[in-house]
Amino acid sequence: MHSHYAFASDNTAGMCPEALEALCAANEGLVASYGDDPWTSAASDAFRDLFETHCDVYFVCTGTAANSLALASLCASYHSVIAHELAHIETDECGAPEFFSNGSKLLMGAGEQGKLHPESVKNLVTRRTDIHYPKPKALSISQSTEAGTVYRPDEIGALGEIARGHQLKIHMDGARFANAVASLGVSPAEVTWKAGVDVLCFSGTKNGLGMGEAVIFFDRALSEEFAYRCKQAGQLVSKMRYLSAPWLGLLSNDVWLKNARHANKMATQLRSSLAAIEGVRFAQPTEANGVFVCLPESVILGLRERGWKFYTFIGQGFARFMCSWKTREEDVERLVADVEALAGGSL
Ligand SMILES: *Cc1c(COP(=O)(O)O)cnc(C)c1O
Repeated sequence: MHSHYAFASDNTAGMCPEALEALCAANEGLVASYGDDPWTSAASDAFRDLFETHCDVYFVCTGTAANSLALASLCASYHSVIAHELAHIETDECGAPEFFSNGSKLLMGAGEQGKLHPESVKNLVTRRTDIHYPKPKALSISQSTEAGTVYRPDEIGALGEIARGHQLKIHMDGARFANAVASLGVSPAEVTWKAGVDVLCFSGTKNGLGMGEAVIFFDRALSEEFAYRCKQAGQLVSKMRYLSAPWLGLLSNDVWLKNARHANKMATQLRSSLAAIEGVRFAQPTEANGVFVCLPESVILGLRERGWKFYTFIGQGFARFMCSWKTREEDVERLVADVEALAGGSL
């Protein structure tokens, strides 16, 4: 059912059973509101265990809120944030990072495959030091990237070194953090605080929650008064247990990793099946749960006529197919069969 949405985004899937079960378990009794409940503290502790450090954890509803409020806590209004030109904070958040920081400017950097190149960061941070330019204060990187690629720990380390050299704080947009960790096979600590990340926005929505993102401060000094930011932004959920408890379903028994591994595996299968079709080319490497394919307009139109939903927003002729915890092998097979039939040897 609804398999036409199997590749539209990783947020077309529902809640995974473990998260749903944890949600139902939290639907018992009367407890304190605004986060002073046992589920919220248990979920926060579960993050501290996962990251092997004493981090500060906050729960908000959307990735846009998480990113914007996290960046606002790093920057004053006259500061700037360096990010890749494809970054979600630039292209898909309706100016929320600028709004919540009261005007911090985003400075767009470049780099292949959706990854910021260290030279580009260096250029942006050193090209102006005068009072007339918004002072660079933060570096934001997406893991995995909007192009479906993954920063390796040494790449984050290299960016981290530049950031530290110029007193930039590092924010990680982890909308697909789980997929990146699953792809790299490293510990979550290794690609975050150990590599210099100060604050991580870890998405639950795209991993298998109904909704919810965790804002995780590794530099705990930065989270001072963060609760007030959440409240003012309308992100302090009064029945917080419904936002936090489902995380226990993800964080127990590494369900988050299982979900991410499944999504990545489906993307790998989709890629290798598509690669077997004569003439198919790919716009990006497949390192996480997304496959970026160059298809002729006729095939793109044909897929849409057959009901498939997917985005074609990064460059012309590229189609993005995202996999989730819910994507099935039969969905992959159906999509591949349709591409094959539409291409008809014409690619
Ligand atoms: C999905 C996504 C977000 C969060 O989006 P919301 O719709 O605000 O939850 C943030 N960053 C990236 C890279 C995303 O793909």
